[in-house]
Amino acid sequence: RFVSFEGIDGSGKSTQARRLADSLREKGFDVVLTREPGGSPGAEEIRSLVLEGAPDRWSAETEILLFTAARRDHLERTIRPALAAGKIVICDRFADSTRMYQGLRGAGLRAQVDALHNLMIGVEPDLTVLVDMDPETGLSRALGRNGGEERFETFGAALQADMRAGFLDLAREYPSRIVKVDGAQPIDAVAATVLAIVEPRLR
Ligand code: C5P
Repeated sequence: RFVSFEGIDGSGKSTQARRLADSLREKGFDVVLTREPGGSPGAEEIRSLVLEGAPDRWSAETEILLFTAARRDHLERTIRPALAAGKIVICDRFADSTRMYQGLRGAGLRAQVDALHNLMIGVEPDLTVLVDMDPETGLSRALGRNGGEERFETFGAALQADMRAGFLDLAREYPSRIVKVDGAQPIDAVAATVLAIVEPRLR
């Protein structure tokens, strides 16, 4: 089984991905917790290339290519082997992030993301947990952390608001795959909700 977590910056999805992995391991499941961009040595190198450079170093189109290349490597080296070994893969971000972060940066980009995804990736998670969060709250949380500030300044709070709406649209586009949870609840409450959604779907 392959489960992804999605949401805007500061939504708490990384915390929730970790909490789910911990809970499932306690219940005896064999879990691989991984993340994007990254999740394999090659993909982590691509992550650094994109996130540590100037925010406008690559065009949105080139970022689509780079993140899809990273995803392909992650899929080949980490995700597919784990699934083949019968493990549960929990991934902090997957293709939906590229659909939003790069796909919403201009006209026609989402179609490019989807075309490249169909050509080179071709798989979706069995289940995606969308941690929904108001962008103001998410932004204040995310800016308190290291890094990323420059990307925020470049792409702005407006992109976060567009992405929140975009993620909710995606949940409507893929209703059987994407489940929305309210990220504004206390962390423990979100974790309990997520576990109650995911665990029955693993059996
Ligand atoms: O999820 P995480 O915090 O690790 O993401 C790191 C950074 O990468 C964030 O600043 C996010 O905005 C950015 N990102 C991006 N495009 C993606 C995925 C993440 O710009 N497709």
